[in-house]
Amino acid sequence: TDTKPTVLVPGKIHPRVLERLQGQFDVLQVPVGDDPALSDEQAATVRAIAVAGAVSETLMAALPNLEVIANFGVGYDGVDVAAAAKRGIVVTNTPDVLNDEVADTTIALLLNTVRRFYAAETWLRDGKWESEGPFALSPLSLKDRHVGLYGLGRIGQEIARRLEPFKVKISYHTRSKKDVSYTYVGSLKELAQSVDTLICIVPKTDETHKVIDAEILAALGDNGVLINVGRGWSVDEDALIAALEKGTIAAAGLDVFYDEPHVSKGLMPLANATLLPHVASASVPTRNAMADLVADNLMSWFDKGKPVTPVAETPVK
Ligand code: NDP
Repeated sequence: TDTKPTVLVPGKIHPRVLERLQGQFDVLQVPVGDDPALSDEQAATVRAIAVAGAVSETLMAALPNLEVIANFGVGYDGVDVAAAAKRGIVVTNTPDVLNDEVADTTIALLLNTVRRFYAAETWLRDGKWESEGPFALSPLSLKDRHVGLYGLGRIGQEIARRLEPFKVKISYHTRSKKDVSYTYVGSLKELAQSVDTLICIVPKTDETHKVIDAEILAALGDNGVLINVGRGWSVDEDALIAALEKGTIAAAGLDVFYDEPHVSKGLMPLANATLLPHVASASVPTRNAMADLVADNLMSWFDKGKPVTPVAETPVK
């Protein structure tokens, strides 16, 4: 008889997760959604979920023997973690293995946003360098900027370390002060007032919903630059579009959006917005490392009763 635990995979996941799980587990791929459309017998065999997306309480309730949900990604806002905690289901994520990649991307996005390199390359490829002359000087520069980090966790700290050699001033806001040399600011509003460049790298939570609004953008000022590599959830996108149109702030660089993969129509034509399709961690080596950590969490859970990286809401003794 087959005694391998079944891992349910709702929707698409990195192929390396599936490769690593084959052999030790029965892998059951189903479409995304609340209802996996399994027989009761089949549902009873499912002891784990591997997911790069959403897991609702409804889905958990349909799987009576579910023990663990391994999320592909450090942000696990797609998983109803409160419901998992209540049901004694452990949730794991993929912290740290993507810190460097995401921090590198953030610096690239910041430089591209202030220096307009993408538009400059388009100018060259369109033949305009030769036909019309040099690309216009960028009105903005990274020089002499004061950068405020909204979030200074695993990724935020790597971004700050990378900013040091650029000789910019660095401040940050988090709920609790960290043991770092950067200037702590007690609220997001005061941070926006004191800096000209705001980098958002906080998780998606009830407290971080649309907190970067018209007031925060106005506080950044007309030389202001907003970089968002956290979640689109944290930015009021309509307020941002208005601020970019009116020159309330100078520019924005976004890797994340409110309703992905839909991008607000108003952002598309803005020359002072640099837009990336959520690629901060999207290199082959980093996504492989994330895939390995998803598989390692499940293997460790079933081999040793202990996952590698459980999330704070579902700790394991
Ligand atoms: P961490 O948990 O290590 O850090 C989160 C930071 O945010 C902490 O400094 C925390 O400090 C702060 N924070 C949390 N809530 C608030 C709040 N309400 N107000 C102010 N500060 C707050 O997470 P990571 O650095 O590993 O990742 C951060 C997020 O980045 C992920 O949750 C994910 O959403 C996003 N991300 C995006 C990627 C992309 O592809 N664009 C890739 C990877 C991550 P404190 O607790 O003291 O408030």
